Amino acid sequence: NKWVYTFKEGNMSMRNLLGGKGANLAEMTEIGLPVPQGFTITTEACTQYYEDGRKINDEIMAQAMEGVAWMEKENGKKFGDLENPLLVSVRSGARASMPGMMDTILNLGLNDEVVAAMIKGNPDPAFERFVYDSYRRFIQMFSDVVMEVGKKYFEQLIDKMKEERGVKYDVDLTAADLKELAEQFKAEYKNQLGTDFPSDPVEQLKLAIEAVFRSWDNPRANVYRRDNDIPYSWGTAVNVMPMVFGNLNNQSGTGVAFTRDPATGENKLMGEFLINAQGEDVVAGVRTPMPIAQMEKEFPEAYADFLKVCETLENHYHDMQDMEFTVENKKLYMLQCRNGKRTAQAALKIACDLVDEGHKTEAEAVAMIDPRNLDTLLHPQFDAAALKAATPLGKGLGASPGAAAGKVVFTADDAEAWAARGEKVVLVRLETSPEDITGMKAAQGILTVRGGMTSHAAVVARGMGECCVSGCGDINMDEENKKFTLGGVEFHEGDTISIDGTTGNIYQGIIPTVDATIAGEFGRIMAWADKYRKLKVRTNADTPADAKKARELGAEGIGLCRTEHMFFEADRIAAFREMICSDTVEEREAALEKILPYQQNDFEGLFEALEGNPVTIRFLDPPLHEFVPTEEADIKKLAEAKNKSVEEIKAMINSLHEFNPMMGHRGCRLAVTYPEIAKMQTKAVIRAALNVQKKHADWKVVPEIMIPLVCDVKELKFVKQVVVETADAEIKAAGADLKYEVGTMIEIPRAALTADEIAKEADFFCFGTNDLTQMTYGFSRDDAGKFLNAYYDTKIFENDPFAKLDQTGVGKLMETAIKLGKPVNPNLHVGICGEHGGDPSSVEFCHKIGLNYVSCSPFRVPIARLAAAQAAI
Ligand code: ADP
Ligand code: MG
Ligand code: MG
Repeated sequence: NKWVYTFKEGNMSMRNLLGGKGANLAEMTEIGLPVPQGFTITTEACTQYYEDGRKINDEIMAQAMEGVAWMEKENGKKFGDLENPLLVSVRSGARASMPGMMDTILNLGLNDEVVAAMIKGNPDPAFERFVYDSYRRFIQMFSDVVMEVGKKYFEQLIDKMKEERGVKYDVDLTAADLKELAEQFKAEYKNQLGTDFPSDPVEQLKLAIEAVFRSWDNPRANVYRRDNDIPYSWGTAVNVMPMVFGNLNNQSGTGVAFTRDPATGENKLMGEFLINAQGEDVVAGVRTPMPIAQMEKEFPEAYADFLKVCETLENHYHDMQDMEFTVENKKLYMLQCRNGKRTAQAALKIACDLVDEGHKTEAEAVAMIDPRNLDTLLHPQFDAAALKAATPLGKGLGASPGAAAGKVVFTADDAEAWAARGEKVVLVRLETSPEDITGMKAAQGILTVRGGMTSHAAVVARGMGECCVSGCGDINMDEENKKFTLGGVEFHEGDTISIDGTTGNIYQGIIPTVDATIAGEFGRIMAWADKYRKLKVRTNADTPADAKKARELGAEGIGLCRTEHMFFEADRIAAFREMICSDTVEEREAALEKILPYQQNDFEGLFEALEGNPVTIRFLDPPLHEFVPTEEADIKKLAEAKNKSVEEIKAMINSLHEFNPMMGHRGCRLAVTYPEIAKMQTKAVIRAALNVQKKHADWKVVPEIMIPLVCDVKELKFVKQVVVETADAEIKAAGADLKYEVGTMIEIPRAALTADEIAKEADFFCFGTNDLTQMTYGFSRDDAGKFLNAYYDTKIFENDPFAKLDQTGVGKLMETAIKLGKPVNPNLHVGICGEHGGDPSSVEFCHKIGLNYVSCSPFRVPIARLAAAQAAI
């Protein structure tokens, strides 16, 4: 097997094998850009590493050493050599970009002898400083990444050294200081691990490669993959390449840049640059970097070259590029390029611009937007009036747009814990690091004191679509005591704050937010998407307000109205409880009679909101005990209404207790035991439809009545008969003409397996994949949280099957139901209304198996529209 490819052997089509970084380094080589020449160890080697029990086998290592030999020849330097030593970086790089999630080691190949030889060969004191700077960086990174000795021990030593020398920045440390630091670092290494720092470059290399493979499995990478739908099986490649030195002297530096603004999408070079610095310095927020434009003054030739590179790359990739580069002695080297991560807003603008500029077709533009990203645009923005009235306390960089308001917390752990108990929080930190990722996700927004537009916080927040204001240097932070001051105000944990990720403004207190709308570029892309998609998109809505919102967002019908949600209002719940605690049919009917007008009214509102588009109404589904009173006062009230004693009512309530209500007396089973409930609901639906149809002759109101939790065709037949008799009587009494449908949910495996029988009685199927998932797996979605984490840790599951449709099992049941049902009833229409209806990969699956529509919550409608289009393109 070929495990290793030099940059001259690969190209961008080999992303799966070489990872994104490796494939693009090879592609940049091919189109003649200045890339230090190295090699890539494939993602397959990573998989092999795990298969071999986390060991690099001899074949892979032998090929890597051939790669080293090639690289030595190509660059005229030798690994571990005392005359002309080659130093390398060892870099991770998966198929999908996972910024900052895995590990990279720089300056590998140094040891005491090499350091001494380098200094001897160049007596310039500035050069000596550079050598020790590189050495101490290497020891620190190697210890941290490869040997997992915490960074903090080394950072403490640096801070101590800076304090002793009375300097603020690393660059102010002298060669002697850095030399001493390198010694201290080695001592710290030995102190922590009990062994000497490995001096053999080949051993260093092997350990580093292993560490990169290992980093594929680190906790933050696992979380990132789960969030971004990246399979664990992909693995990471390892790139080994010669170092170029941005920390060589003041004619050198390092930077990152985007060809367009990743926050707004504006077609303008954006980036940051740091003189006399190496890699991580820019993103880690160690010193505040200068804007890229300023590089023109400092390094005019390299800057001009860089502009040309940007143009070449955009013309080549036809997309906005995110680039990492280094200038060594005024000469430019490219170290990475990729299609840049961007905010949802920027993604839309860039896609439209690329179409207008002739880079992309409309279909390609639709395909390049990540549907999950749209979420942020659909989330509330600050209320314009309230925002105008508010005075900012301070300002940072608008690093990731959106509005966030909540209580201040100071650690990622706190953010997680507070959010878990339902608090809205804003995470305020000096700077963030990859370990903070779960806490960042839990927060409404992130505010950092240090770091620029390309800092870790900014990049990760943009990726997550979360509001972020970074680099607010005016904040006087006291992380230890959990407080900070800004604009004369002291904030403690729990105090409220609002941050605007677009302008970077920071406000005291909570500024109210308003819903977002689809307009401008968003509207353009959605219109294109609608041209391509085959799937219809409906919404799950129980109220006219939700339905209206969904219509604005493009819903073409209601796929699920959960009628039980309508019962919780004070007047109704009382009547409903009276119904539950009835002894006879007559009593029940009397109570239901009170609810009927309310239900009818609700349905009229929905039919009105939908303007003649389809409305699916699901009949009562949950077990009755969910509705009974728990408060003593409510129980008393019910007793009085029913003319019973409190004890009697309590006994009735107790009799409703079920050991496993999820599999208990619910769904169509309720209509089987109490047909009068289905009768009442039918009357409400039909009367509402008749009324609305009368008012709007130009609409075609066709109610779709959906019977839940059917497992046997006879159940459906029984309930359907009640519905049809009642409905036909209503229609006849009104002397009108009204078409209606009766269908069923497919949410019990047995229903899917006997769909050929059920289809004879059903006008439509709708997959209730929440129940179908829990019934198929045999665990409850309310309890799965308790053990899912263990399942992720052990890689038994990579995703939550309630969030991402299990295509293998649950999906097979769906396919079976369609295959069995359609031939029996050619008019059968089929949809999905579980949470999965708004999940892009699930939507794609629904398209593939031939569903007619997906139905999802209102704010997911645009996501489903886009995902449906992408499935069809
Ligand atoms: P990440 O995937 O986290 O961005 P990288 O592998 O890109 O990690 O490495 C991080 C940074 O290290 C790069 O942006 C670059 O500045 C620096 N770096 C990596 N390899 C080299 C190299 N060969 N020469 C100089 N700097 C390098
Ligand atoms: Mg990088
Ligand atoms: Mg259900």
